[in-house]
Amino acid sequence: MSRSAANSISMASEMARRTTLRRHGYLIDMDGVLYRGSALIPGADLFIRRLRERRIPFRFLTNNSQRTRRDVVAKLSRMGVPAEDDDVFTCAMATARFLAQQKPGGTAFVIGEGGLLTALHQNGYAVVDHDPDYVVVGEGRTFNLELVEAAVRMISNGAKLIATNLDPNCPTQHGIRPGCGAMVAMLEAATGIKAFSVGKPNPIMMRAACEELGLDPADAAMIGDTMETDILGGVQLGMHTILVLSGGTRAEDLPRYAFRPELVVDSLGALATTLDRRRWAPPWRLSPQRPALSAIA
Ligand SMILES: [Mg+2]
Repeated sequence: MSRSAANSISMASEMARRTTLRRHGYLIDMDGVLYRGSALIPGADLFIRRLRERRIPFRFLTNNSQRTRRDVVAKLSRMGVPAEDDDVFTCAMATARFLAQQKPGGTAFVIGEGGLLTALHQNGYAVVDHDPDYVVVGEGRTFNLELVEAAVRMISNGAKLIATNLDPNCPTQHGIRPGCGAMVAMLEAATGIKAFSVGKPNPIMMRAACEELGLDPADAAMIGDTMETDILGGVQLGMHTILVLSGGTRAEDLPRYAFRPELVVDSLGALATTLDRRRWAPPWRLSPQRPALSAIA
């Protein structure tokens, strides 16, 4: 073998090694991916354990603004998934950080609960009940007509309408309950003003989570069960996208969407089995062509 041929073989193996080791990570939706209601989805704990063993960075990403990071950690721990505050990124955090960038030290009238109030306070916002810069709406059970009337008046007087997310409903053990999007729709209808939403699928939230991991979106995969939020946001941001069928989307729903996930798996447990075979190398080829991930399944 000539020296140049030997050199090119050793360069190719070095490139392959770097490809295998290239830093990559995951944003992982929670409801329908890790759990349904208060029940863990089988295999989800194994997937998270593997990520920790391999020191692959990840964040749990939720469009539920009701809970603080600490509340989410407590829920996960109860289900046998040990977690720390830093593992969690909520749409309440994304919304509060976004507002702090847009208008530092501003004021907000809030229809929402602890997760949203805490995030706003931590980002230098005062929660007020008159003349706010923003009316901010999140999930919760505190919604009533008195709050709606106050919010409508403030928005009509120039306060900007911000939604933590526009999910129309949320799954529960008993079916569904109205989501933040349903409540925001009432304010929009009454005022004729459209809300700006920061949660998934807005890339603002997903980009912020990637930044927390120190990852370029192109080196991260969004794992979720909802096409309209998880997968759409991932596609818009140029992330890799993995749909799990353990939540709201069924395989037969996919043909009606104009965009598609790169990989479809039954659950996080099934994804762990697939990645075990690849020794947890990134499940995408790091070439400009980016062939469909489904090729590896
Ligand atoms: Mg979900």
